[in-house]
Amino acid sequence: MSDKPEKFIDEKGLRLDGRRVNEIRPMKMEIGVLSRADGSCYLEWGKNKVLAAVYGPRELHPRRLQKADSALIRYRYNMAAFSVEDRIRPGPSRRSIEISKVSREAFEPVVLTHLYPGAVIDVFAEVLQADAGTRTAAINAASMALADAGIPMKGLVSACAVGKVDGQLVLDLNKPEDNYGDADIPMAMTSEGEITLLQMDGDVTQEEFKQAVELCKEGCRQILEIQKETLKNKFTKLEEVEVSD
Ligand code: ADP
Repeated sequence: MSDKPEKFIDEKGLRLDGRRVNEIRPMKMEIGVLSRADGSCYLEWGKNKVLAAVYGPRELHPRRLQKADSALIRYRYNMAAFSVEDRIRPGPSRRSIEISKVSREAFEPVVLTHLYPGAVIDVFAEVLQADAGTRTAAINAASMALADAGIPMKGLVSACAVGKVDGQLVLDLNKPEDNYGDADIPMAMTSEGEITLLQMDGDVTQEEFKQAVELCKEGCRQILEIQKETLKNKFTKLEEVEVSD
């Protein structure tokens, strides 16, 4: 028997978790949570819990893998075995390899890799608890971990998904919307709204697609504000410590 809800949006325009169609789930994040990483971020978004760690830039070994004119970015997305209801088999899967690839590509246009020829920047995104939207949650956390590591970037990357349920576009899918909805379109974008990741599962019309991009931009703007606020808080605290020293 399917657990598909009869309706995803009620007559008041509210979704199963009480959000409006253009609202993201509550998000909070903290940076600098791992002392051995060069940069790190712990992020909670709805019931998703993600830890991102950045190491580098450091010299890439073996040297034959080095790029003469830029740094190499490596990105590993991984779901912990205990992150979903049924245990996930540890190690890479087709899904995690694909997500790692597209997530790395989401950062390539913004990281100033030409400043570090021969180097590598490693990004690890560990999903500790999954509840739909983990690739976008991981990208938001990774973006913060990169900033925390002081890696020069054109700007932060923010990510969010748009989906379609009951014939309506909705921002930031929750689990039932992700499982039983008609479309799932995760996107990542720069602070200027330039799209660096776009995937699509399901069907939308051309007009709906244009609206989905606009809705996603709205979501990413909200996320960018939270990201900027988190960075500001950390650096204000550091300034306070320096002044009192
Ligand atoms: P995303 O997490 O980016 O939305 P998917 O659409 O592939 O990626 O997955 C949706 C959700 O399905 C995940 O967030 C997670 O809660 C769940 N899920 C994904 N892979 C598995 C798996 N192998 N076993 C159980 N649940 C999974």
